[in-house]
Amino acid sequence: MKIYTDNRLLSSGFIGGTLSRHTGNMCETDAQDKIYQELDIPAEKIAHFHQVHGNRIITLSSTKQLAQLRAQPLQEADGWLVTASNCGAAILTADCVPLFLWDSQGNYFALSHCGWKGVVKKLPFLTAKALLETGAKSIQGWLGPHIQSCCFEVQQDVASQFSVRSIVHKNGKIFVNLNTEILDQLQQAGLDLNQIKTPYYCTCGDEENFFSWRRDHIRQNLLSFIYKP
Ligand SMILES: [Zn+2]
Repeated sequence: MKIYTDNRLLSSGFIGGTLSRHTGNMCETDAQDKIYQELDIPAEKIAHFHQVHGNRIITLSSTKQLAQLRAQPLQEADGWLVTASNCGAAILTADCVPLFLWDSQGNYFALSHCGWKGVVKKLPFLTAKALLETGAKSIQGWLGPHIQSCCFEVQQDVASQFSVRSIVHKNGKIFVNLNTEILDQLQQAGLDLNQIKTPYYCTCGDEENFFSWRRDHIRQNLLSFIYKP
């Protein structure tokens, strides 16, 4: 199994990362559960929500709350804040940014589904703020595989919703650099950008390893997750 991850996440005591497309389409619960089983993670301890490209963050603070959440229909949200042990959370992406934030003490983590609409709605900023409000001190972060500025061409109506710093003009076309926009928001929230890593994995440009909505227009998703044992 190929998992893109950040070693600092693992050394902080978490299990997590973003799966490559080799494990298959992760849209369905059965496919997700099979992966958790292979990783020796209890599937019933992983929370999922219905992603709506908004900025709502759900806080999970106990395994009891997790069980209640799992017993109900999926809630609409795009971010997780998890402060309890034996809990995990997952999101699905196919170009959107999986934003991983955690405290290096291994107590808390946040995981957000940051599409461009969520970024415009300040989801990265709100996710960082939520994690900071737990009292977490040394926060680290990692932006998983997503569509990079090489492929994220937009029209003026979308470009105008981003800061000028995040816009790239090339051959008469307009591209958005989501990394720039997200890093700006994380810094505004108070995070140290030296602790945030943005490896260059482009879902749209790397067909061998990733699904991409922009490239294929098929509902196929990559799974990103964090579990705190
Ligand atoms: Zn690309």
